[in-house]
Amino acid sequence: MYFDGSDWVHQRTGGIEVICGSMFSGKTEELIRRLKRARFARQKVEIFKPAIDTRYDVVRVVSHDEKAVDSVPVQSAAEILLHVSDAEVVAIDEAQFFDSDIVEVCNRLANQGIRVVVAGLDMDYEGKPFGPMPALMAIAESVTKVHAVCVHCGNPAQYSHRFSGSRNLVQLGETESYEPLCRSCYLKATGKEE
Ligand code: ZN
Repeated sequence: MYFDGSDWVHQRTGGIEVICGSMFSGKTEELIRRLKRARFARQKVEIFKPAIDTRYDVVRVVSHDEKAVDSVPVQSAAEILLHVSDAEVVAIDEAQFFDSDIVEVCNRLANQGIRVVVAGLDMDYEGKPFGPMPALMAIAESVTKVHAVCVHCGNPAQYSHRFSGSRNLVQLGETESYEPLCRSCYLKATGKEE
């Protein structure tokens, strides 16, 4: 049976939904859309993100088009368990930056009957699976991969190409440093073409 991730809003059992994709693919917008539906249904929602993500605002999850929702910044995945009280829905944004404990944390919450919605980058700028995201995708009931538009050719894009100098993986989403590219444009841009 196929579930669009958002179908879980109608389920009264725990489960894990992953929303993944490149930068500028609308991951956070999709996360916020699902949370708004849950709130309309009067479900208690709590949102977490790694404290490392300070690009716009330390206490809000902000998408690139500035839709914002309040969130709790945490230093580690385990800290999420300390903050979850009577939440029915737990959302986690920028999940790629969490340590591998995030996998067990999501499983524990889902096993307790909580709907867990996780958004994150599936690949780093080198096109490699990012941090705990592959494991989260494996344990999830539903995985939604969203795509940006390739800025070179207009095809669906899945790579976050970095075109500034730093090699620090933690460098975060400013528009002047990254661009979404499709596979063939990414290969050309990085000189990996065969
Ligand atoms: Zn392209």
